Amino acid sequence: MQERVKAMGLILQFVCDNPKCREVKKTENHWWKLRRSQDGFIIVMPFNPEDQVKDDEGIFCGEPCTIKAVSEWMGGRHLTLTSSQHGGEK
Ligand SMILES: [Zn+2]
Repeated sequence: MQERVKAMGLILQFVCDNPKCREVKKTENHWWKLRRSQDGFIIVMPFNPEDQVKDDEGIFCGEPCTIKAVSEWMGGRHLTLTSSQHGGEK
């Protein structure tokens, strides 16, 4: 699920794995990496741009995208995270 690196010259670019986001990583962003292990664990760790990103991993531009990805990975269901957040807007 990773199309992280587009090598244009020497510039490496990381793109958020949330398909609705596609934010490009900037140096100051606080990104997270998720790994789904074969026995079902979902591991969340700070993303270091020097890390390798493997096929069973995704990188996300911040907490909202990270949480959304965790939700979707849990049993493959799409939890209604966005709509429940909208409920609190008023
Ligand atoms: Zn994102």
